[in-house]
Amino acid sequence: MAHVTATPSWAMLAYLIAGVLFILALRGLSSPATSRAGNRYGMIGMTIAMVTTLLTHGIASLPEIAGALAIGGGVGFVTARKIKMTDMPQLVAAFHSLVGLAAVLVGLAAYLNPGAFGILGADGTIEPQSRIEMGLGIAIGAITFSGSIIAFLKLAGKMSGSPILLPGRHVLNLGTLIAILGLVAYFTQDQSQWVIATITVLSFIIGFLLIIPIGGADMPVVVSMLNSYSGWAAAAMGFTLHNTAMIITGALVGSSGAILSYIMCKAMNRGFLSVIAGGFGAEAAATGGAAKEQRPWKRGSAEDAAYMMKEAENVIIIPGYGMAVSQAQHALREMGDVLKKEGVNVKYAIHPVAGRMPGHMNVLLAEANVPYDEVFELEDIQSEFAQADVAFIIGANDVVNPAAKTDKSSPIYGMPVFDVDKAKTIFFVKRSMGGVGYAGVDNDVFYMDQTMMLLADAKKMVEDIVKALAH
Ligand code: NDP
Repeated sequence: MAHVTATPSWAMLAYLIAGVLFILALRGLSSPATSRAGNRYGMIGMTIAMVTTLLTHGIASLPEIAGALAIGGGVGFVTARKIKMTDMPQLVAAFHSLVGLAAVLVGLAAYLNPGAFGILGADGTIEPQSRIEMGLGIAIGAITFSGSIIAFLKLAGKMSGSPILLPGRHVLNLGTLIAILGLVAYFTQDQSQWVIATITVLSFIIGFLLIIPIGGADMPVVVSMLNSYSGWAAAAMGFTLHNTAMIITGALVGSSGAILSYIMCKAMNRGFLSVIAGGFGAEAAATGGAAKEQRPWKRGSAEDAAYMMKEAENVIIIPGYGMAVSQAQHALREMGDVLKKEGVNVKYAIHPVAGRMPGHMNVLLAEANVPYDEVFELEDIQSEFAQADVAFIIGANDVVNPAAKTDKSSPIYGMPVFDVDKAKTIFFVKRSMGGVGYAGVDNDVFYMDQTMMLLADAKKMVEDIVKALAH
């Protein structure tokens, strides 16, 4: 590896352009209407940053860079094409683990070959400031790596989603974190191998320990939190490598992930610290999930739903995870189109944690070309349920569960939910009465007087409703 020299001014300019493109990417991604453009800005920015870094450090020639980009880009392209939309959260978790591992490897490479990274002081040892950046970067990277692996296993269903609570875990976790910070501070005095090795190993362990007690219902926050960590790890490494683009990108990812975690916590009415402390959802898991109640409920048909919605003035559609599973969004858009032709006012209500990742429903509805002005966030549509003739719940469950408002013992207590009970009629599309939502709890809406259960695969049911509407 070549020695680090002062970054040439053309490279500084290229990094600046890449930084601006990353900011435009984040800006673009904040709305479904501009998200494709946002993605493109991000891709161009990343290409500029990578090519500039590789060229200025004399690491690779242009053909080598093009080859590496083609291989990496090819793997990403094929993975993104093949992945099912419902498996996206675990893919994101898996990608975060790679960012964490990269930070650890870069940190260790800098430790083993400090001369090449230009971080040697006058006395021939690594500069104290670089030791802190290196120690923190490796620690955050290792936590991100092992934490993301656990999040991946939980989200992919390869490991139980319920919290695993070790006795005395708070003391154990806090003690380990303090030990890591203490070792990073000690590393400035003593750059022996055992110090960096212990920091690395303890951080891998604490990443694992921090995530296993976190229950499934808190996974959205965990994924965005790990996203934030991976950004900070990259930023810390950017300082070690004297790479401006990496510092900018890391800080952007770190802060946007932190903001997203905050928004998700607010959406679920959960304290950030209580999420990190873990254990949420343990009660539901301990009681075996949903209480299997034998209460009367009404079954409806596609014809009932078609008739009632045709006659309605206002229909609010609430999509959830089940819509994603059955890929019902195109049929749903068609249903909305037919209803609009009949003069019905159709709106879509999106909960911030509907589905299995932030923006999951927005992406699917955008893919089906549902007009953006028909799609509303929770706080913008909540007051309209009182005037709605029909609330059409399709594959959503937790996000409409009134237990979140009334039942203090419920694992989703405190999460804001749609006031569907205020609508005159509720249609609830799901496959069976037994199937519960992510949080594993029963839902009073099934048994309400105005509710009709439409038990079928979501796509099949909506297609049948569209057929019935044509008659
Ligand atoms: P839920 O997971 O609460 O409910 C999904 C519903 O879809 C179930 O009632 C299920 O019932 C039904 N369903 C599943 N497959 C089908 C199908 N093929 N056709 C028809 N219905 C189907 O979904 P919500 O979107 O309401 O809630 C999201 C939950 O996921 C929240 O608890 C949230 O915290 C959590 N979460 C959110 C993440 C995010 O970032 N958005 C990430 C991780 C978790 P049945 O089996 O009977 O069909």
